[in-house]
Amino acid sequence: MNSETRFAPIIDRFGSRLILDVDRLPGYFHDVSEINARPDAIFFAETEPEVIAIINLCRKSKIPIVFRGAGTGYTGGAVPSPSCLVLSLEKLRKLKIEPEKYQAFCGPGLITKELMDKAAEFSLFYPPDPASYDESTLGGNVAENAGGLHCKKYGVTKDYIIGLRAVTIEGELLKTGVYSDRDLLDITGIIIGSEGLLAAVTEIAVRLIDVPKTGATILAAFGSPENAARTVSQVTDEGIVPSVMEYMDGDAVQASNRYEHSLEIDQAGAILLFETSGENADKQSKRIYEICREHNAGHLKKEDNPAAAENLWKIRRNLSKAVKASAREKIAEDVCVPPSKLPELVAFVAQLNQEYPIRVNSYGHAGDGNLHVNFLIENVPVDSALIDEGVKRLFEKTLELGGTLTGEHGIGLTKKRFLHLEFDSPTLRCMKRIKNVFDPAHLLNPGKMFCT
Ligand SMILES: Cc1cc2nc3c(=O)[nH]c(=O)nc-3n(C[C@H](O)[C@H](O)[C@H](O)COP(=O)(O)OP(=O)(O)OC[C@H]3O[C@@H](n4cnc5c(N)ncnc54)[C@H](O)[C@@H]3O)c2cc1C
Repeated sequence: MNSETRFAPIIDRFGSRLILDVDRLPGYFHDVSEINARPDAIFFAETEPEVIAIINLCRKSKIPIVFRGAGTGYTGGAVPSPSCLVLSLEKLRKLKIEPEKYQAFCGPGLITKELMDKAAEFSLFYPPDPASYDESTLGGNVAENAGGLHCKKYGVTKDYIIGLRAVTIEGELLKTGVYSDRDLLDITGIIIGSEGLLAAVTEIAVRLIDVPKTGATILAAFGSPENAARTVSQVTDEGIVPSVMEYMDGDAVQASNRYEHSLEIDQAGAILLFETSGENADKQSKRIYEICREHNAGHLKKEDNPAAAENLWKIRRNLSKAVKASAREKIAEDVCVPPSKLPELVAFVAQLNQEYPIRVNSYGHAGDGNLHVNFLIENVPVDSALIDEGVKRLFEKTLELGGTLTGEHGIGLTKKRFLHLEFDSPTLRCMKRIKNVFDPAHLLNPGKMFCT
């Protein structure tokens, strides 16, 4: 059946708004995983009733649907499934803040930073801030349960979601949390982190908090990754919870230097960036400064000026792009271990870097023990089996250290074959049953998260 016939009911309803000459939008063939696949059609929904209509029409014609926010996901969640329609939610950009209730109501296409900036106008704060916060959408954040720089102290996306409106494959609108009179089973919790496999999120209610008082930003450079990681462990052991504690190893520092030209440090084994907040912010940053010294930080900088501090944070926020720019191909993994195990994990990454004929570097939200480990291929051809082996070893080590295979980037396409390493059969079976209840014909994001 040709595309015109297959999509005829949708064309009847939406005319040329249904895009069939998809080759003019190649950006919609991939996310940051760089896996490429061509969809059969793309539709930009502008309202919730349109989402319902499209889902109904697709279900009746058995057309698979892949929801899409900004396409900044790392694991292929927004990559088109075979013969699918990509349903972009990026135009649903509602933003209504009710400051007296500390609540905001957002369209899934709203960019995370837009919510943060608007909340700040009311002296309110939305903490979950993935490093992609100026690109990623709230719908994508919900679907991936995104973490971020502030998440150790303030929690991740799920900790701020107080209700969802979401459309099922039956075209029915679910209203959860504050959108319903009462909740029984936690459907909000089931949809958060479900990576577009269960329903289209069409509106998100979030909780806001008062803007906390922040202390100085501290940059500490160490001779070795292990010294930096031990610093993280000691800060954690002393019960200090910085609002941000970010780690980058020496190779990532060099990539940043080449990209930003602003770090002012040429060589370092690793760098930590800290920010403290709350009533004890100043006392805590003083102690963090001392702990860095005790662990032989060779270069220490304390920045009280918020504008200058923002410059340091920009370095961290651009790190993913900087590392990507430093190689022909970047295979980005995202593992997480208890913070006390971070020294062992960074030592293991250094060992992989030594053993393999490619660069293996890491950076991440150290406070959470969350490390983004990158296998970086330059111009010399590398056997992909070797990289697969390195990734598998990284995952095995992470699990041995009591960690998890996905700190925050989800499973999608790239990690589904490793799911069984972390989850036992009953848990996996239960997750698959939940998928079947929501989407028995597997029309929503088929082929993702679970191996068939
Ligand atoms: C530079 C950079 C830094 C990053 N830093 C972080 C970080 O610090 N923390 C972190 O957690 N992640 C980070 N990421 C990963 C990514 O930004 C997040 O996963 C983000 O939440 C994805 O949002 P998105 O709008 O781009 O979603 P997309 O990539 O478009 O989609 C992601 C998944 O969500 C589904 N989806 C999207 N919208 C909806 C919807 N409305 N309803 C149902 N399903 C939907 C898609 O089908 C897909 O499975 C980073 C990425 C980059 C490129």
